[in-house]
Amino acid sequence: PAPNIRPVIRLLDEAAINRIAAGEVVERPASAVKELVENALDAGARRIAVDYAAGGKVLIRVTDDGCGMGPDDLPLAVARHATSKIDGSDLLNIRSFGFRGEALASLGSVGRLSITSRPRGEEGHRLVVEGGRMGAVAPCSAAPGTVIELRDLFYATPARLKFLRSDRSEASAIAEVVRRLAMAEPLVGFVVTEVVEGEPARVILRLDPENGDFFDALQRRLTRLLGADFTANALRVDVEREGLHLSGYAALPTYSRGTSVQQFLFVNGRPVQDRLLYGALRVAYFDVLSRDRHPAAVLNLSCDPERVDVNVHPAKSEVRFREPEAARSLIITGLRTVLAQGGTRASSTLGT
Ligand code: ADP
Ligand code: MG
Repeated sequence: PAPNIRPVIRLLDEAAINRIAAGEVVERPASAVKELVENALDAGARRIAVDYAAGGKVLIRVTDDGCGMGPDDLPLAVARHATSKIDGSDLLNIRSFGFRGEALASLGSVGRLSITSRPRGEEGHRLVVEGGRMGAVAPCSAAPGTVIELRDLFYATPARLKFLRSDRSEASAIAEVVRRLAMAEPLVGFVVTEVVEGEPARVILRLDPENGDFFDALQRRLTRLLGADFTANALRVDVEREGLHLSGYAALPTYSRGTSVQQFLFVNGRPVQDRLLYGALRVAYFDVLSRDRHPAAVLNLSCDPERVDVNVHPAKSEVRFREPEAARSLIITGLRTVLAQGGTRASSTLGT
């Protein structure tokens, strides 16, 4: 621009602001599914159903049996920066998946969003938001819990639509997101169904809620997700040091893979992509694997939420530890101890 032309600064309207935020939160149908399933988990759901059509481009529907929302909650749920999960005074103490209050506002700005919800013992209500415009809250019949339906994702942002992959690859990304969340939540049941021409056509994934002892439940869930071969070769990990707790299953070196596809790491139950943690996993197996092999493991690192910052990226898949060395070292020494003990009773408490 020429230096003599002075541009005008304007405050963007709500719809534009939401659409910009949506760009960060909702990259593709699978990211919408992730946000909706996380909301269902935050609502205490025991069963979650995900239906999609055309790789999620035409329809995404997440049904849960969680706490539900009342009629006054619905407009707030789709308002930007409105959340029931934190009160704003304590960003260091986040115990839920959500806290930004952005997902539903974003989804309502990039698709046709409909929320039907009914708290136990109350009436059901529905709210529709299309292209950022909110309708009126109307009573309707509904099962206890919440159904969130997102149709025509990105219809209002054709540029985004163009960058999506084939229905098949978007569909497999959706299944992957659910599988990933299901690994950390073995007590919750998940069903993923493909819808064709408005009718349920194919069950893609069915995971019944597991019960009993957490490790047994997790083991059964992982058998369903990764195969009996994984669990037959996996050692239980349950190590703790200085308030950091590493739990899950790590496969014997003999079960190693040619790629890192069977590495699933979680921090306080949240799936993470974290170079530090994946690096520590590699180091833990360094002496027992050849260079071209990769360990297989499903591990959750849990600690007081104050020790890890989850407010790093809108998609919330990155975290920052206050003491990264402690996290790294627990993974390395914890796994080495478990691998050295070789299996039978692989749970232990490490000294400091
Ligand atoms: P966040 O999850 O960060 O709070 P969202 O935009 O995803 O933001 O959701 C906004 C609010 O709507 C949540 O804080 C919650 O109170 C409510 N909500 C969303 N989904 C559900 C659900 N499935 N069941 C009950 N309440 C929900
Ligand atoms: Mg949310």
